[in-house]
Amino acid sequence: MAKSRAMERRTRVLVVEDEESFIDALTIGLEREGFDATIARDGQEALTIFHADQFDVVLLDLMLPKLSGLDVCRSMRAASDVPIIIVSAKGEEVDMVLMLEVGADDYVTKPYRLRELVARIRAVLRRRETPVPDENDEVLELGSIRMELDARRCFVGGDEIKLRKKEFALLRLLLENPGRVLTRDVLIDRVWGSDYVGDTKTLDVHIKRLRTLIEDDPKHPEHITTVRGVGYRFETTKPSP
Ligand code: CA
Repeated sequence: MAKSRAMERRTRVLVVEDEESFIDALTIGLEREGFDATIARDGQEALTIFHADQFDVVLLDLMLPKLSGLDVCRSMRAASDVPIIIVSAKGEEVDMVLMLEVGADDYVTKPYRLRELVARIRAVLRRRETPVPDENDEVLELGSIRMELDARRCFVGGDEIKLRKKEFALLRLLLENPGRVLTRDVLIDRVWGSDYVGDTKTLDVHIKRLRTLIEDDPKHPEHITTVRGVGYRFETTKPSP
């Protein structure tokens, strides 16, 4: 339903960018790909336009005049769950954990190829179309993985796998956030809470065991991927060969 409505009009992108050399090429490129681009040239203007209108996705440069990209992101996120992709310049120190904490969905580094950017935009939009699991819905299904939450059973390609309590909770959390990077802190906090004792390897040990159960090749995982220095992500699509 939401899908067909979205297809009737062009996807609206708010591009927050202060570099003129980028703006023209980006606008033309996005329009050619079927998006409708609106430009904001500084952080304050971005918030003004954002609050006055409706956008499907925000492309947010990190280094901006007036307000930083992080502040803009935090402020937009407080008001809306619009997908936000942060754009950083090459060589800029980017604290990815902080970026996720302020509510960004993804990030790209300049210079990027338009094709890559468009793929990221489509990915965050697709993710938002994934229905949020209903509290009463006891089945969580993604690709070949099926979790029966009340019964606490898990199946991969129809075969049941036996999961321990924390493994089940961890896989559930990843599956409930497909395509989204979950930081180590979030995973530890949500799965273990104050139970988390011992060294920081506990999380990795659990991920490793999950991979041996659900991955075709646990050494080259296609479902649960590592985001170095940040955390883990459950992929919604297989990486291209
Ligand atoms: Ca900039």
